[in-house]
Amino acid sequence: MNNYKKILAAIDFSDYDGIVVKQAKHLANQLNAELGVIHVLDNIPMPDTPYGVIVALRDESGDPLLEDEKNRFNQVCDSVGIAPANRWLIWGKPQEEIIQLALKERIDLIVVGSHGHHGLAALMGSTAKGVIFNAECDVLTVHLKDNQ
Ligand code: AMP
Repeated sequence: MNNYKKILAAIDFSDYDGIVVKQAKHLANQLNAELGVIHVLDNIPMPDTPYGVIVALRDESGDPLLEDEKNRFNQVCDSVGIAPANRWLIWGKPQEEIIQLALKERIDLIVVGSHGHHGLAALMGSTAKGVIFNAECDVLTVHLKDNQ
């Protein structure tokens, strides 16, 4: 498993982000790979562009909601020592943006969390499932349990 040189962890600002980034970091350390983190802001009206809009982290827009998201994102990235150049806070649809960024940045492995949805949720699909079925690189799912 030594061909993974660039790993991308996707976080959704849930209580499980720490587990996902720590597992990704652990793997990156073992493989001597570069680790990046992406969060997709999916509740903001989207301009119609193929890659969405990348929020510059030095952006001084002053929007308190956006500032909160940036702070939260940076806290998670800081907790595992992600280099500023490997932090991506992007507006768009999570599945699409994760897959597009992985292609653009030549990511070898995407790490996502999975709750192992059943029943209706499985029929409706999920970000994890969408990434697994549509990404062109390998995808590792970190199994998330409610009591973690
Ligand atoms: P879900 O399929 O929505 O339950 O989410 C499962 C996993 O997909 C999360 O643990 C994250 O790894 C990833 N994910 C979901 N939403 C986002 C998002 N907005 N930005 C980045 N990753 C996400």
